[in-house]
Amino acid sequence: MKYKIVNINETGERSVLIIYTGGTFGMIQDESGSLAPFNFGKVVDRVPELKQLDIRLTVISFPKPIDSSNILIQDWKDMAYIIEENYAQYDAFVILHGTDTMAYSASMLSYMLEGLNKPVILTGAQMPIGSIRSDARENLITALEIASAHNDSTPIVSEVCVYFNYLLLRGSRSQKLRSSTFAAFESENYPRLAQAGIEIEFNYPVLRPYDRKSRLKVKNHLDPNVVILKVFPGITRHVVEAILGGSEVKGVVLESFGSGNTMKFDWFLNCLKQAIDDDKIILNVSQCIGGEVEQGKYETSKGLNDIGVLSGGDITTEAAVTKMMFLLGSGEKDNRLKHLLTHSLAGEMDSVWE
Ligand code: ASP
Repeated sequence: MKYKIVNINETGERSVLIIYTGGTFGMIQDESGSLAPFNFGKVVDRVPELKQLDIRLTVISFPKPIDSSNILIQDWKDMAYIIEENYAQYDAFVILHGTDTMAYSASMLSYMLEGLNKPVILTGAQMPIGSIRSDARENLITALEIASAHNDSTPIVSEVCVYFNYLLLRGSRSQKLRSSTFAAFESENYPRLAQAGIEIEFNYPVLRPYDRKSRLKVKNHLDPNVVILKVFPGITRHVVEAILGGSEVKGVVLESFGSGNTMKFDWFLNCLKQAIDDDKIILNVSQCIGGEVEQGKYETSKGLNDIGVLSGGDITTEAAVTKMMFLLGSGEKDNRLKHLLTHSLAGEMDSVWE
């Protein structure tokens, strides 16, 4: 792929590579009045402050910026590739990304970038940079400040994060919760990593510890053959069979009620059991934004334990779907796959970084 590269600022103590993928951040209205992405050259003109930052800044742009609703597995591979190729030259990376699927990309990159010990911060905007009330400028500038923040020569942040509307969140815990306010993202099951006010207040105890010795190893085999089965009252056997039945389906994220409950009808459990017998792996995540799956707490989740559905604990759907794609793509199988799905790989579940 041919990327466009622009140097914005060549002086400064730290260096940051901005990877521009598209999103509302840099959109303008097309002839029909719909918002469509435009190229980054025009974006720089709208944020002259970038040249005043004490950061060496380079932008690498996707040849055709995209609305993140169109994101493909190849785009994740491209982002990881750009980071890998430029890892030695830059202190940090900021990815400008549409908000719609930012939490998926942040989760996926946190798995793909194994051994990361530099900041990778995804940000974007709810309103295009050209709008007077846009949140784009603040999000980008503060994301750059966080990306370049360091103590001595050590980066304060050394993980994949989302920065949005004054909050720095762990990427693999983040979710887009609101589409019409600037406060679009939260990480309900994990404390915020930092909050930006007059000062940027880092929450040091919850940041991933910096590991000087770790080496980046990009893992880019991904398997898209996963589905989400979101249960709802009145769901029919026909629908459940249609979702689970595809011979290409290898992994199922079961979005259950509350703390992991589903209907306990025989036909439903039999459908799940059949899928498991057909070698499909099922991970139970909650439809609730906060809290966790506790299989067996209620009678309506005990049957799931009995047939071999795995508990996803407090993982988000975004982190669960991408984790399945990642682990299936890496060729994990059987007990090891089950173990990895139920333990933290990139801080996406439990409170401990394993
Ligand atoms: N549809 C846009 C996107 O995700 C929304 C945004 O960026 O806020 O690319």
